Amino acid sequence: MQKSLERHHLLTARLASAMLFILNLISVPFQNNVNFPIGQYSRVQDVLNVQPVIPISLNEDSLEDRRSNWTSDDAPCAKYDSLRKPLLGNIRVKIDVNGPWADGFRRALRFWNTVLTANFHEEADLGACSVRIINSGPHILNHAIVARAQITEWANFQGKIAVNPGSVKEMSSAEIYAAAVNELGHMLGLKHNANIHSVMYFLDIDGTESLDNKDVLDLSTHHKLRTPIISVGFLPIQTVQSESAAEAKGQAITGSVVN
Ligand SMILES: [Zn+2]
Repeated sequence: MQKSLERHHLLTARLASAMLFILNLISVPFQNNVNFPIGQYSRVQDVLNVQPVIPISLNEDSLEDRRSNWTSDDAPCAKYDSLRKPLLGNIRVKIDVNGPWADGFRRALRFWNTVLTANFHEEADLGACSVRIINSGPHILNHAIVARAQITEWANFQGKIAVNPGSVKEMSSAEIYAAAVNELGHMLGLKHNANIHSVMYFLDIDGTESLDNKDVLDLSTHHKLRTPIISVGFLPIQTVQSESAAEAKGQAITGSVVN
């Protein structure tokens, strides 16, 4: 059985979402014409016309955009509006989650520091931070969702990312880290990428993805990037290593249990 984790959903929602994505990715209406008789052999001719149609309507991103219009009673960071600026500068992040999620987000902040002309770092003071990572329950994350970021494009944006603390039981440290990179990516203006190897792909296969050329290009329309990534246009997320040997061990295990 494929070990794949939808970044926001688990279990049944994972399957339903994947099916919906695939159905909308390639829609192939076909028309079957049976013509008879035909030619000198008087055979029945069975003509199958297949016409691929480029997806234009309901897709994962449009669903996500609607779902992301969430709010919570948790006090926001005072400086969340700074996420909307092209030049980010100091972005202070209040991490109010524990254990593996906190580790994953700390590592994800270091990853984004290698990408953006920005300095993401931890901050305990609500009056000074821009992003707040919070635990949440079913009012924001239904039983199947592991994490969700607010989106800067929405008027009610307050710089919050909600995570399901119980989801760590089903996730490796590499998957949690990749989910944290993905959620922060949404907050930086990125949408889902159809490339399965992108960290912005909606399924998390094994936590070894990259920012690809499309992600880098999209990101450059929102924020100022560091020169090296502009020239390379590509960055594996694991270029930023985990801090603990235990987490490195977890990554090695993840890499061998993809099926
Ligand atoms: Zn996502």
